[in-house]
Amino acid sequence: MDDCLFCKIVKGEIPSKKVYEDDEILAFEDINPIAPVHILVIPKKHIESIAYIENEDIELIGKIHKVIVKIAEEKGIKEKGFRVVTNSGIDGGQEVMHLHFHLLGGKKM
Ligand code: AMP
Ligand code: ZN
Repeated sequence: MDDCLFCKIVKGEIPSKKVYEDDEILAFEDINPIAPVHILVIPKKHIESIAYIENEDIELIGKIHKVIVKIAEEKGIKEKGFRVVTNSGIDGGQEVMHLHFHLLGGKKM
């Protein structure tokens, strides 16, 4: 999607502080963190939100969750705990219309 902020981050057209990357998944620091650890984990493929995942995306969504836990472990918050949030649509408070999972931790949420 040409006008999608996170697609532009995937393509490197907008800079980000990358935390993890593979062929299908990118993770980067949230620009406006609300916790000591606040990382966004996204599919490189443009999916609007969790409301629009297809059957073919199910394996990818599972992989994203494995990546989230790997990052939590690397950041030292796996054992103490963390929060994973995905907002969908207007009422869900979604601002960027490209599926993303917030990994939040490093304090009591
Ligand atoms: P949401 O409200 O779930 O759509 O969250 C969008 C998130 O993207 C917010 O937490 C923003 O701080 C974050 N964000 C917006 N622009 C950028 C950017 N250029 N780099 C990193 N994070 C961003
Ligand atoms: Zn996108």
